[in-house]
Amino acid sequence: MKILVVEDEPMLREGLVDLLTGAGHEVTAVADGLAAVEEGRSSAYDLVLLDRMLPRLDGLAVCERLRVARPGLPILMLTARGAEDDKVAGLRAGADDYVTKPFGVKELLARIDALVRRVAGLPKEPETLVADDCRFDLGRAEAERGGEVLHLTAREVGVLRWLFRHKSRAVSRAELLEQVWGTIGTLQTRTVDMTIAKLRQKVERDPANPKIIVTVTGVGYAWADQEA
Ligand code: CA
Repeated sequence: MKILVVEDEPMLREGLVDLLTGAGHEVTAVADGLAAVEEGRSSAYDLVLLDRMLPRLDGLAVCERLRVARPGLPILMLTARGAEDDKVAGLRAGADDYVTKPFGVKELLARIDALVRRVAGLPKEPETLVADDCRFDLGRAEAERGGEVLHLTAREVGVLRWLFRHKSRAVSRAELLEQVWGTIGTLQTRTVDMTIAKLRQKVERDPANPKIIVTVTGVGYAWADQEA
């Protein structure tokens, strides 16, 4: 597995790299939050081990940003002992699980294994999608219709991924806020509507009569295109 380790304390960082490399993983380590977002976005990591307290950008903000760029990426957060609020905040920011510092080697490896097994059970997500003659390259955050290349924001990519992943059902605005924005309660669901409206302007043939992202009255939105 390719694991990204984000930890600013050099001793702990090196210890984690040695431990995970010894367990057969391919490990890259960074020491601050901005580097973590940059690295986690650009490469195909299987898992991120993320410290909560980091210089330049806090672990929670890193988690939220990575959730938008790569919603399926497993994130295991390292939190300080007994900081119950930290755990809750981490999970709300989109972390899949957390390990409390100081942690035992066995516990950490077991948590990583459990998380990877959980994620391995989910279907692999494609990076390119086609819907109503619009081609999406989610890895590059681009869409192409009739030869015109349209640039997508990380948020728009997150919405597309989430809708496609759950294309068998409609997705509520609250769910999109939680899963794509990584927040609960602090933003209005109207934020979702505005993002969808902008996205439709970019990718729909006729934004007033959407064929890719349809509105499901009383529920929210759904991925409409059924692949031929
Ligand atoms: Ca730290």
